[in-house]
Amino acid sequence: MIFEKWLMPDLVAETYLCVTPELVKKMGGKALLCDIDNTLATYDDPTPPDTLVKWIEEMQREGVSVAFVSNNSWERVRLFNKELGLVAYAKSAKPSYKNLKAAVRDLGIGREDAVLLGDQLLTDCAAGKRFGIPCIIVPPIKDRTSAFFRFKRWLEKPYMKKYYRVNGKKEI
Ligand SMILES: [Mg+2]
Repeated sequence: MIFEKWLMPDLVAETYLCVTPELVKKMGGKALLCDIDNTLATYDDPTPPDTLVKWIEEMQREGVSVAFVSNNSWERVRLFNKELGLVAYAKSAKPSYKNLKAAVRDLGIGREDAVLLGDQLLTDCAAGKRFGIPCIIVPPIKDRTSAFFRFKRWLEKPYMKKYYRVNGKKEI
């Protein structure tokens, strides 16, 4: 299938907390372009949980920049990013990679220095792969149960299975 190469993450991590600055650097990254919803926080967290703030500070301390590239509204992203003041984009329409490109430009780095972190293959991973950067996927923190979301998960299933077949069942 023509889209297959867009839906194959480079790594599946158990949670974003398993993603360390060393890991990002090992993947060639100086910056992590992060999805927000269900990757770093649930839809019920209007502001970043303390654990997340600490994780971001640790990244920055170790020289890894963090940016948000979300498909959610500007209202959601602005409030979430209010205290952090990171490079942040809303309404990104991933799998479009326009805002990954914009974030990289704002960070003053090259595309080759960026790594994507997200929870969805069809939006996050596809955007990262189309942009040409390594992708880390985490299982969604708390999935929505709407028919539309269930349908998207169903579509992703064969690709996740293939990832495990190729890379083994081991997650980090
Ligand atoms: Mg998400």
